[in-house]
Amino acid sequence: MARHSPYPMISIEEALALIVGHCPVQPRLALPFDQAHGAVLAAPIVADDPMPPFRAATVDGFAVRAADGATERTLVGAQFAGYDAALRVGAGQAARITTGAPLPAGADAVMMVEWSEERDGRVGFSRSVAAGDFVRPIGSDIAQGEAILTAGQPLGPAEIGLLATIGRLEVDIFRPPRVGVMSTGDELVAPYERPAPGQIRDSNRYSLIAAIREAGGETLDLGIAPDSEEELRNFMVQGAAHCDLMVTSGGVSMGELDLVKPLLAELGTVHFGRVNTKPGKPLTFATFEGKPFFAMPGNPVSSLVCFELFVRPALRKMRGFPEDRWHRPRVVATLSHTAPHSADRTEFQRATLHFDAAQGRYIATTTGNQRSSRLLSMVGANGLIVLPHGHGDYKAGSTVEAMLL
Ligand code: AMP
Ligand code: MG
Repeated sequence: MARHSPYPMISIEEALALIVGHCPVQPRLALPFDQAHGAVLAAPIVADDPMPPFRAATVDGFAVRAADGATERTLVGAQFAGYDAALRVGAGQAARITTGAPLPAGADAVMMVEWSEERDGRVGFSRSVAAGDFVRPIGSDIAQGEAILTAGQPLGPAEIGLLATIGRLEVDIFRPPRVGVMSTGDELVAPYERPAPGQIRDSNRYSLIAAIREAGGETLDLGIAPDSEEELRNFMVQGAAHCDLMVTSGGVSMGELDLVKPLLAELGTVHFGRVNTKPGKPLTFATFEGKPFFAMPGNPVSSLVCFELFVRPALRKMRGFPEDRWHRPRVVATLSHTAPHSADRTEFQRATLHFDAAQGRYIATTTGNQRSSRLLSMVGANGLIVLPHGHGDYKAGSTVEAMLL
C-alpha cells in the first residue's frame, strides 16, 4: 500500500504566517554603539544637542557681512576650525575662515577664497554673496531634540556615524538570536574525513551556518546526529536547550529513517510538515519548549532555498526588523531561456540577474541544471526566479518575478 504524508500540503503564504506567528521578537540588549553595526534599534534615539552646534562655514574663504556687497574689506583676523577666536566682523570688515570653523559674530556669509584678492591687510572680491551663503545654521543638520532614529531602524554605517555625532555611547538593540544548527543522516561525515562507501560529506551544516551568520544570527554548531531515534531525540533536546531557534537538515522525507517529523510531534507541536514549494516540499516547522524549530530537507539546494524563503524572514523578524524588511526585494525580470516547470508547485529557480540598461529591465539567466542536490546551481546565483504553480514551462522572453539575493 502506498504511504501518504499525514501532513497537509500548505501554501507558502500559510507557512510564512505560521512561522512569523511563532517567532517572537528577541529581548533587548544594551551594546556599545560601535559594536551594534547590523543590529536593529529597540528604542528611538533623540539628539540632545543641535548639529552643527555653531554657525559653520562650508567653504574656505572670508567671513563677511553680505550687505557690504563686493566692496573691498579690511581684514580683522583669522578664524580656523577647532576653537573660538572671539572675533567680530563689522561693516566693511572680513575675517579669514576655513571650512567647519565657527562664523565670527557680526558676519552672516562666507566669500569663497577663489573670488578674493588680498593685499596689504585688505581683501577685494569679484562678486557679492547673500546673507546665509556658505553657512550651515545651528541645528540645520540635526535639530536639538530631534528624533533622529526610530525603533526598528537597522544600524548601518550612517546610523553608527549619527550615534557617534550625538555622543550616544550605548544603544538598545534586539539581541541576535542564537541558532542551533544540526545535520542528520547516517551517511554524513565531516569535511575532513574521507567518506567510506555509501557516505558523503556534510555540507548543509556549513552552508546553513554561513547563511545564518549573513542574516545576522549567532550560530551554535551541534554536529551530525545519526538516524537513530534515541540519539536524534537527545541531540534535539540538548540543542534546543541552548539556543533560541533550531535549524536541522535531513530526515524529513518519506523514508523509513526520516525520524525528525515524528520526533518533533512527540517533543513539541508540528505546525506544518509540507509546503507547496519546489525545492523544499518536506520543510517542517515546529515549536518545542517554546522555541521555533525548522527541519529542512536534506538536499543541499533545498535547505538553502528553504532558508531564504522561510528561515531568513523568521530571523529578521526576531532581530526586530519591521515587516516590510523581512523578505528579499523582488524585481520583474525577463527570462533569457525557457524554464521547464511543472504546474503543481511554486518553484524557485536559481539564476543570475543583470540589469540591461538598453532594454531597461532585468534579464534572468539560469544557473543550469536545477536538481536540488546540485549545489552548483546556487553558485553565482544572485536571484531566485519565482515560477508560480498553475502554469507549465515558462518560455524564453517570459516576464517573471525574481527575488534578489
Ligand atoms: P533526507 O532529507 O535525509 O532524505 O536527505 C535527502 C538527500 O540529501 C540525501 O541524498 C542525503 O544524503 C542528502 N543530505 C542530507 N543531509 C545532508 C547534508 N548535511 N549535507 C549534504 N547532503 C545531505
Ligand atoms: Mg537522511
